[in-house]
Amino acid sequence: MLIGIDDTDSPTGMCTTYLGAVLARRLIREHMKVREARLVRLNPNVTFKTRGNAAIALDVDGDPARGFELACGIVEELADFSCDKTNPGVVVAGERLDPAFYRKAVTDFCEIEEATELLERSGARYRGWKNRRGLVGATAAVASVLPDKTYEILAYREPAHWGTPREVDRESLFVAEEATFPHTWDTVDLANRVVVCVPHTPDPVLFGIRGESPAWVMTGRSLIESEKPALEQIWVTNQGTDSHLVPGTCGSLREGLSYRVRGVVTGRPVTGEGGHVSFAIRDNEAEIRCMAYEPTKNFREIIRALVPGDEIIAAGSYKKGSINLEKICVLSLARDLRHKAPFCTVCKKRMTSDGKGKGYKCRRCGAHELEPEEQEIPRTIRTGWYEVPPTARRHLAKPLCRGMPDR
Ligand code: ATP
Repeated sequence: MLIGIDDTDSPTGMCTTYLGAVLARRLIREHMKVREARLVRLNPNVTFKTRGNAAIALDVDGDPARGFELACGIVEELADFSCDKTNPGVVVAGERLDPAFYRKAVTDFCEIEEATELLERSGARYRGWKNRRGLVGATAAVASVLPDKTYEILAYREPAHWGTPREVDRESLFVAEEATFPHTWDTVDLANRVVVCVPHTPDPVLFGIRGESPAWVMTGRSLIESEKPALEQIWVTNQGTDSHLVPGTCGSLREGLSYRVRGVVTGRPVTGEGGHVSFAIRDNEAEIRCMAYEPTKNFREIIRALVPGDEIIAAGSYKKGSINLEKICVLSLARDLRHKAPFCTVCKKRMTSDGKGKGYKCRRCGAHELEPEEQEIPRTIRTGWYEVPPTARRHLAKPLCRGMPDR
């Protein structure tokens, strides 16, 4: 059977993955075999999410009626029902549900009724609490197929410690990153000297190490010194796979979906208030804005180096009329030509503008020149992919250390 669970946490506590890890141990205690523990991230732009829009599925060899009973029991015991936004869902299915539902939940928006219709059609056991929205994530987890997958080992804290400062040795995290990158990633952000893998929220997670195989995440984890975790679980995940991105064109983007869009830069990037950088790209349909927000730190230097005429692929979520950049590919570089007032051939002094569209004039001798002096500035970036730093990376975004995406 596949057991799916979602929407058990709130900003003040709990985490659906913790609940899944505890459930896995209870199932094992009843002599059931847990073949896989899966953590899927769904559309990062849904407004109902608490943090990272995660849902879990356990692949279990055992009695479905008992599995359902245990899963519902653990939700009633551990979910944070006090929060308005916590609307748990549990699904137990004999086999994987239609993967189209999972793909829609990662890339788009699903109605609760779409989930219940699929559950009814497939004869799955299910239960939703309060407004039952958690059934969307629980169904998606049970319907998930992962053509590309990564792993994360999550260490969870003793309940007595929840909400208190986490004791994780900072230096050991840098050691783990150095010893295992690029087979693990996002433990720390080396360029910005920031720890990434230890949350600041009052939930049960102590830290998480992401990587390409169970062996690599275990190796990274073994180098970390910390308070003693209550339990640890290796999850198979869709994190770091770009599964939220769909192909798009400038004229056809929908709010809250995440895209790869190809276009030509139309103007020089501008740094606005708060350090956010914006510019526009155009294809033969329309023009759209792209944003590199302040938290993307040094990535903004790459964006500021773009010039009109550069051809790029922009990847990120489309929100309020902008693509919020997660990564870009520079496909071709234009010449960076800047125009200056020319020198007066007689006086050898630089001329000044004679008004818009009127050319240039020498203030000394009155000589007139129509054309400006053209200066070519050497380009500081090359073609290829560029990404936001680990501190700004979304769970689903594929880090470039996993390989360059197709162009
Ligand atoms: P948790 O640790 O509980 O998983 P979270 O940040 O992952 O926390 P949730 O509390 O699960 O967020 O809230 C997300 C809610 O949005 C869930 O009810 C889930 O079923 C629902 N949801 C997820 N993806 C979609 C989608 N694509 N369309 C509609 N609803 C969705």
